[in-house]
Amino acid sequence: MPGFFDTSIEFLKGIGPQRAEALKKELSIHTYGQLLQFYPFRYEDRSKIWQISELREDLPFIQLVGKIRNLSAVSTGRAKRLVATFSDGTGSIELVWFQGLKFITQKIKPQYDYIIYGKPNVFKGQYSLVHPEMEVFTGEIEEKGLQPVYHSTEKLKKRYIDSRFFAKVMRNVVEPGLPHIQENLPEEVLWKHDLESKPFAVKNIHFPKDVEHLDKAKKRLKFEELFYVQLRLLSQKLVNKATYKGLVFKSTGLLTEFYKDHLPFDLTDAQKRVVKEIYKDMCTGKQMNRLLQGDVGSGKTIVGFICMLLAIENGAQACLMAPTEILADQHFRGLKEFADKLELPIAKLTGSTKASERKQIHAGLLSGELKIVVGTHALLEEVVQFHNLGLVVIDEQHRFGVAQRAKLWKKNRKVHPHVLVMTATPIPRTLAMTLYGDLDVSVIDELPAGRKPIQTVHRYDKDRLKVFEFLRSEISKGRQAYIVYPLIEESATLDLKNLSEGYDIVRKFFKEFKTCMVHGKMKPAEKDAQMQKFLNKEAHIMVATTVIEVGVNVPNASVMVIENAERFGLSQLHQLRGRVGRGAEQSFCILMTGYKLSSDSRTRLSTMVRTNNGFEIADTDLKLRGPGDMAGTKQSGDVEFLIADLSQDARLLQEAREAAEEILDNDPHFQNSENINIRRYLASLPKSQVAWSRIS
Ligand code: ADP
Ligand code: MG
Repeated sequence: MPGFFDTSIEFLKGIGPQRAEALKKELSIHTYGQLLQFYPFRYEDRSKIWQISELREDLPFIQLVGKIRNLSAVSTGRAKRLVATFSDGTGSIELVWFQGLKFITQKIKPQYDYIIYGKPNVFKGQYSLVHPEMEVFTGEIEEKGLQPVYHSTEKLKKRYIDSRFFAKVMRNVVEPGLPHIQENLPEEVLWKHDLESKPFAVKNIHFPKDVEHLDKAKKRLKFEELFYVQLRLLSQKLVNKATYKGLVFKSTGLLTEFYKDHLPFDLTDAQKRVVKEIYKDMCTGKQMNRLLQGDVGSGKTIVGFICMLLAIENGAQACLMAPTEILADQHFRGLKEFADKLELPIAKLTGSTKASERKQIHAGLLSGELKIVVGTHALLEEVVQFHNLGLVVIDEQHRFGVAQRAKLWKKNRKVHPHVLVMTATPIPRTLAMTLYGDLDVSVIDELPAGRKPIQTVHRYDKDRLKVFEFLRSEISKGRQAYIVYPLIEESATLDLKNLSEGYDIVRKFFKEFKTCMVHGKMKPAEKDAQMQKFLNKEAHIMVATTVIEVGVNVPNASVMVIENAERFGLSQLHQLRGRVGRGAEQSFCILMTGYKLSSDSRTRLSTMVRTNNGFEIADTDLKLRGPGDMAGTKQSGDVEFLIADLSQDARLLQEAREAAEEILDNDPHFQNSENINIRRYLASLPKSQVAWSRIS
């Protein structure tokens, strides 16, 4: 027997089969329960009636009471509109309609008082309201306080399913629903975190008595949402730890040899700490799932390599997956140098590896002879099988999805390999906790010694000559430079035009220097050749699109010019800038723009100029863009919240996480009586949503 909340909305008073169908199609609302979770997106204060004499510029939505007179149709060309005068005794304003003229003309009676509602416009001191909401005024001011405003879609609005409709049918489901609502948070959590009950929250999120009630309702619902996400992720982590055995990599001979004889620099303290953390994981007999966060240039690759040595020393193989050919190639070259010294067989496998070579690599991996493979998505293919894969290192996680991570896991059927995910996108803590809550996190929070902070400036296009002269003087000192052009997503041809025009200008200006160019449309071999030129210092200037964004490492390059910098997102700018500042020389980043800039662009540019700190930048980015937009988060599926907002609710998230941790610590299977609410709630969810709760 379906419970109250499983009832189909077609049975709700005011909906019926046809509207129900439309709601299902447009908003995926099928049941009473889903309708209840369709929260308003804002609220309007209907308790105040304004007077026209009080009107000023910049008003919100307001309410007026008065008479509507002098209705007349006005036409300009083919467009027709209806205008009327609205007066309340203190003044008058104009009302305007562009649609439904006939209907409105018939409806309005000049002798009645109307209560109208809308956002006034002002033009040359004259106020007007376009398409106001209106009703005959009965003399009663609705003491309803805050009114909910619901989203709708164009299609639904055509069927009169608008915000008012929702408010009306909500009344038929909220009150009757309250007795059926079961509290889904433990009592202790409620009082400890000062949270209202679930029925209180549901009632007041739709029909808040006042702002205070609304805030309490919001807090409660956000907390609940965040709490259950954290509970899920943390349980998942427990399950993983309990279920998946891990290979034990205890011996450290190879690592020590490398460290003593071949490592060309000292590891930073942060790198050492992280290596220790990973080594500890690899000795526990549990599968490691670790996220390695570190700002650009913090030296994650070498940490990855050292961990690979642990795997190999202990009889396993290791792979490194990168998101692009260029990166895979660079990693391969970097690691090969070390691997050769240790006489470890290593290969590169990408989409452009030749068939014959590919076969050889496949065979080498299967026999176990080949110890390290570096590659791109090509590694995920079914044909790539290992003798004994022990460690998977994934560079720049945000380009890969969670599903891809899992694919690599499965390349060892007996015991899942350890997984180390390296990311340079400094994800703010709040987001990391949510996205990667099932991973352990290590942070390299220190740059190698001797690095000078990159100096960043913002210059306008008219200063290009000076900027280029500066480049000239730096290159004359032996440095190299990048000049980056943005991708214009709507048009690939425009991109190339933009880029090749830029390239021509650069070549003409820097006649005495050699230049090269990379862009996304090039064949891999061609790209490689150009990259190689730059690496070998055969070219002084590289003109590029954002294909160089991630991970490219040319320490001698010390100047980066970013054209149309306003077109880039903050984290992208930071990534790009990270291509310089990798050597001992002072590096520079020059952000070029025109004069016309949006306020968001200005914030992005000034943030870049102010700080080199990736975490600070990521925080600003999150605030500007909102979490749904952060690189890579869309594919995670973990951050779709109904009401919580990670860019604002960091504190609440922390609280919710701590609450979840405490419960899992004391009662991981939710068996104690005080956690009955959790158990009951999990049991009520559809099976697909609770695969993780198999521990209970
Ligand atoms: P990222 O963390 O951005 O991937 P890389 O691993 O590419 O950084 O390292 C950036 C550069 O710093 C490389 O040239 C690397 O060899 C060098 N490097 C890494 N660790 C150290 C260290 N401890 N001291 C000096 N240089 C280092
Ligand atoms: Mg890197």
